[in-house]
Amino acid sequence: MKVKSLLYIIFILCVFSCVKKEKLKNIPSVPYFVVLGVAQDAGYPQIACKKECCLKTYTNSSLERMVSSIGLVDPITNESWMFDATPDFTKQTKLLSTYTKNKDIPDGIFLTHGHIGHYTGIMFLGREAMSATKMPIYTMPRMKTYLETNGPWSQLVTNNNIELKALKKDSSLVLNERISITPILVPHRDEYTETVGYLINNTSKKALFIPDVDKWEKWDRSIVDYIKQVDIAFLDATFFKNGEINRDMNEVPHPFVEESMKLFEGLTNDDKKKIYFIHFNHTNPLLGEGSDAENRVKERGFNIAKQNSIIKF
Ligand SMILES: [Zn+2]
Ligand SMILES: [Zn+2]
Ligand SMILES: [Zn+2]
Repeated sequence: MKVKSLLYIIFILCVFSCVKKEKLKNIPSVPYFVVLGVAQDAGYPQIACKKECCLKTYTNSSLERMVSSIGLVDPITNESWMFDATPDFTKQTKLLSTYTKNKDIPDGIFLTHGHIGHYTGIMFLGREAMSATKMPIYTMPRMKTYLETNGPWSQLVTNNNIELKALKKDSSLVLNERISITPILVPHRDEYTETVGYLINNTSKKALFIPDVDKWEKWDRSIVDYIKQVDIAFLDATFFKNGEINRDMNEVPHPFVEESMKLFEGLTNDDKKKIYFIHFNHTNPLLGEGSDAENRVKERGFNIAKQNSIIKF
């Protein structure tokens, strides 16, 4: 009986080690992104939604999606960084931690702006939760002042749970010998803070992360030129098309995916492949698998960010 038990334990250990090896095999040995969430600020399902879009998630929780965020991992130095701290921060830090060794939380967090889906996750760094020590939080000046002067965020600063690091627009911040980050201002509803996207440099490669922006035409820069310059572009895809929600859509302007696809029509197939749409409202059919909308996006040569996927950089 004892021998049998021992053999059983050895068998289980072998299975676990094989599974681990299998996982490691698929993980790049150079920096890469992990998609931690793909939904708009309010997540999927969205509170109080009684429409088909969210009803189906109540009977099938595998359809739920976390709020838009990406992780950057440098396996060479065992470092990781997170872009935006969402209400799903606890699960997303856990997910990101599976890609590094002995690390529960990332080495730094870059915030894009002061809307609920993009920064409120830092509350879990405070006393009521893990009580972190000086987690580096990279922010633009207005966002920094907002966090320093408004509770409960100011308490995270005074308790040294977070350490705010000021960023300058268009100025690159070096994270290690391979990776540097540059914030770029984008037009958005800036009630409390400015809004930035991030250019992420990895030696000769570049990525762009703009999860929230008003219409592309309102920007004094060309998104098409940026796409040509980078290798990966995670772009705002909050709404698929006009009329998607029963509200005046001018109050919450975003480039509709239909508009973006039209704007990007003239790009080469190689340039189109760089684009990963992200930040989907609960009404956006791109949240589901195999929709007509998804087929239309893929047929035109674009990608859709999928939660928990790895994107090589
Ligand atoms: Zn958002
Ligand atoms: Zn819904
Ligand atoms: Zn926003």
